[in-house]
Amino acid sequence: MTILVTGGAGFIGSNLVRQLIEETDHEIINVDKLTYAGNLSSLEGVLNHPRHHFIQADINNAEAVGEIFKQFEIGSVMHLAAESHVDRSIDGPQQFIQTNVIGTYNLLQAALHWWQAMKGEQARAFRFLHVSTDEVYGSLNADDPGFTETSPYKPHSPYSATKAASDHLARAWNDTFGLPVLITNCSNNYGRFQFPEKLIPVVILKCLRREPIPVYGRGENIRDWLAVSDHCRALRLVLEKGRAGETYNIGGNNEWSNLDLVRLLCRLVDETLAPPSPSEDLITFVTDRPGHDLRYAIDSSKIRSELGWRPLESKEQGFRETVQWYLTHRSWWEAILGGQHSLQRIGTAGKA
Ligand code: NAD
Repeated sequence: MTILVTGGAGFIGSNLVRQLIEETDHEIINVDKLTYAGNLSSLEGVLNHPRHHFIQADINNAEAVGEIFKQFEIGSVMHLAAESHVDRSIDGPQQFIQTNVIGTYNLLQAALHWWQAMKGEQARAFRFLHVSTDEVYGSLNADDPGFTETSPYKPHSPYSATKAASDHLARAWNDTFGLPVLITNCSNNYGRFQFPEKLIPVVILKCLRREPIPVYGRGENIRDWLAVSDHCRALRLVLEKGRAGETYNIGGNNEWSNLDLVRLLCRLVDETLAPPSPSEDLITFVTDRPGHDLRYAIDSSKIRSELGWRPLESKEQGFRETVQWYLTHRSWWEAILGGQHSLQRIGTAGKA
């Protein structure tokens, strides 16, 4: 099958493309605009694979998107392209509305036209997987049960509001036009190739530089963490075996307060670096983010019971491997930070 992956040069997208190339026979059409968050270096090893075709394109360009469906005879879509950083959505929401809402609309329209023109088995096999976040459900109190697929939408940040809007569009294209759409809502991901503005890489890099580690508020916000490899396996399973029109929540049953996680990461860095003073001493509390959700937690019993998915990465070991990856892949993040990006704009309690 030929799968169109959007956002395949980003954090989750590049991990997904690598898995698809290494573990399946699918042809992958990887469409990415290469915004600040997209990096071809994250695709090292698979970029020039004969089954991988990278196209630099903007999903806001409806004409270009339509052409890609025709030119490559797309068999299914895994849509990950998005503006993804909560802090940036507060500083400048416009691009989030453009890409996350209008860009998703463009893709749905192009997919619909393509699918309506398809015939027979090809049309029956076609699916559009829309990849989304648990943040659309809003915030939980400490002892609330986790979000289920029927939890009401209550987004608080411009990022989560635009993702919620795109989820509604995706569902509407299924319900109104019959396009076989599946939606996933996943918790925070961790792993290799995550852009160094997100929590886990920020903490590791600040430890390396012996700079203050900024933690929002008192670090009490709670997030559920899942290894990106487990998320990618879940996405492949939903695309292959999920029921069209359904939503699947994906989570790791792995809740950490930001402060506990930052402390763990400090300890893991110190195991390797043995700095003169504990990295934990670098933790600095900073003014909380406006509208900061207290807790996200996912009830993933549907995907577990219906599709047999479960996370394979063990909890602390996954974080340990991630720390080791950043410590041993300096050239990857140094190239990013050496360019137009600066550690200065890095917050610490953002989505993943
Ligand atoms: P990311 O920011 O690392 O990557 C996004 C990619 O999309 C980048 O490569 C970027 O260049 C590309 N892109 C942005 N705008 C584009 C446009 N207009 N046209 C084409 N490409 C464009 O994000 P991520 O963390 O890999 O997240 C991927 C998807 O998964 C997003 O939809 C996000 O909402 C969702 N998600 C992320 C997490 C997480 O913890 N990171 C959790 C749940 C869901």
